[in-house]
Amino acid sequence: MTRNLLVTGASRGIGRDVALRAAERGYAVAVNYTSNQAKADDVVQAIVDGGGKAVAIQADVSDVGEVERLFKTVDEKLGTLHALVNNAGVGATQGTLEDTKPEDLVRTFEVNVFGLFYCCQEAVKRMSTKHGGEGGSIVNISSAAARSGGVNAFIDYAASKAAVDRITTSLAMETGAFGIRVNAVRPGVTETDMIEAIREIEPEWIEQVIQTMPMGRLGTVREISDPVLWLLSDEAAYVTGALVDASGGRAMP
Ligand code: NAP
Repeated sequence: MTRNLLVTGASRGIGRDVALRAAERGYAVAVNYTSNQAKADDVVQAIVDGGGKAVAIQADVSDVGEVERLFKTVDEKLGTLHALVNNAGVGATQGTLEDTKPEDLVRTFEVNVFGLFYCCQEAVKRMSTKHGGEGGSIVNISSAAARSGGVNAFIDYAASKAAVDRITTSLAMETGAFGIRVNAVRPGVTETDMIEAIREIEPEWIEQVIQTMPMGRLGTVREISDPVLWLLSDEAAYVTGALVDASGGRAMP
């Protein structure tokens, strides 16, 4: 049986790699993006060229109406939703708490927390055996910053990802008896456009961060998509409420 997966923010970076590799494992994939249609279409084309099934769906996850439309489109184009990866996220604020602009704080929470929350709500409505669903698996992309915080940087981002962790553990408890597993992966600093944008503004920050990493290097998208795919799979059938660190040892307790 083909399993249907929605990946938010799948046009680039970690979400893109999750979408491509999930398709290799037989998932039909809904590739969500917000503005970069050409990149999303490239992901869909790569999946189709590999013999898989995928659709690109534009929606800003921070808008509850757009999230409802996103999930309805998945229903229509793919059918029953079995899996969701809440990957869409923003965060490039550099500076102290005093320097953080209100509009950046609001946007970070709108996308990283409210958007993820809305997507979880729509997924649970469809997956929960309480509502006649077949169950399912949700993986939230958190961050090592949820635990380590951000020193003179990313205080809003770190707080938003701490909220993602608590949504993950709370929802796992709420839905465990109704066939839904909910887990999170907490990446460390990973080579994507998000990090490239920071490197352009403040190159020394990346070098300082690398010094704090036991493994002495940044992560690759593959090193994040591997644990995501494992958590989605039946190999993780008894795993729920887990916060899996994939951070090269950064932010170890
Ligand atoms: P990225 O390369 O910047 O890509 C972001 C993706 O999210 C793009 O596909 C983008 O779509 C989409 N997106 C942004 N805002 C959206 C919105 N409002 N609605 C729907 N889609 C939206 O990001 P990344 O580095 O791969 O990060 C992916 C996730 O991992 C994020 O949650 C991030 O916080 C987390 N993370 C990343 C790192 C890291 O070092 N890279 C570390 C820890 C955690 P468009 O292409 O249309 O703009």
